[in-house]
Amino acid sequence: MSDNQSAPNEIREIRINPIVPAESVLVATARSMRPKKAEELAPRDTRKHVETCPFCRGNEDKTPPAILAWPESADWQIRMVENLYPVLGDDREQASFNFGLQQTIDGYGRHEVIIDHHEHGIAVQEMAESHLAALFGVYQTRMRQLFESDPRLKYVLVFKNFGPAAGASIPHTHSQVIAMPVVPENVEAEVRNSAAHYAKHHHCIFCALIDEALTFEATIYDRNSGAVRRKINVGQYVVERGEKFIAIKPFASRYEWEVHILPLTHQADFLDVRGEDMADLARVMKRTMARLDAVIGGAQYNFFLHSVPHGGKDAGQGASSEAGVHAASYHWHLEICPRTSIPTGFELGSGLFVNTVNPEQAAERLRTVEL
Ligand SMILES: [Zn+2]
Ligand SMILES: [Zn+2]
Ligand SMILES: [Zn+2]
Repeated sequence: MSDNQSAPNEIREIRINPIVPAESVLVATARSMRPKKAEELAPRDTRKHVETCPFCRGNEDKTPPAILAWPESADWQIRMVENLYPVLGDDREQASFNFGLQQTIDGYGRHEVIIDHHEHGIAVQEMAESHLAALFGVYQTRMRQLFESDPRLKYVLVFKNFGPAAGASIPHTHSQVIAMPVVPENVEAEVRNSAAHYAKHHHCIFCALIDEALTFEATIYDRNSGAVRRKINVGQYVVERGEKFIAIKPFASRYEWEVHILPLTHQADFLDVRGEDMADLARVMKRTMARLDAVIGGAQYNFFLHSVPHGGKDAGQGASSEAGVHAASYHWHLEICPRTSIPTGFELGSGLFVNTVNPEQAAERLRTVEL
């Protein structure tokens, strides 16, 4: 689409995450920097119905009773149950949420499973937009119920592991909800750093990053003919744009195809998304996943919903004073992290992520997929 795409230059640089500066990424696109192979990743299960699957329709007796179902009938589309398996049994290796979870489970946390769709192996990009909107609505409803059920809960983490490469041991498409009395460390770092940024600059850093991504969206027309003369970095980091939501490629992406979805207008708490806006969120999500799937060829990924933490038991007056304090500085978002490679010893040992695809080029490739 953009007609001045520069030649794919090799880069090797350490990029600092603007929100969490302690988290940096080595972007190294040289061929020699590609020790990780994607080919060995096991394929995902694409079957529609599996007789022995506890999450498939007709096998409801193989799971605990539904906490909620949509609709509430034998023809349910989405169903939510207590986690069947030992807590975090299927996700123990996921480094990103080992913080505090043991404490959560031993104490007063909850771990639940949302069966995203009655079809066993359906991918997000294959779901109807109305279904996805309902799924986001279920996330929101359950988050609200959990926060209201126990004021000591500070965080409700909604996440999804899709495909064996992403650590999903149950192939039936599902999300997980973990309610905990602590804030996961990576969210805490975002909250802390964005609050510090706000104190200094009086604006939300996430909003600033969105503005920056959009500012580059410039087309220069010829004054006389009206023809397009030049396009400048057409939304360099923009992957998909809806009316209310935007999908962007982070400048310091940890994963080659990492994409974040955020509300365009400032909003700290996922609980504040209005029902009528869920359709736009669903549309941006579906189109983003379709782009990822087309470029990667069968996306296996984790996604994490990062929203402002709630009060917890130490909060002062008011139901969610912590959420109140960070209402102006924090901005909720969905982090989509496709798994196309296996972490190398270097990454595991150093904690420094290595990204072998230039984020600007990755964004360009995702954006130019014909949907
Ligand atoms: Zn199934
Ligand atoms: Zn903001
Ligand atoms: Zn985040």
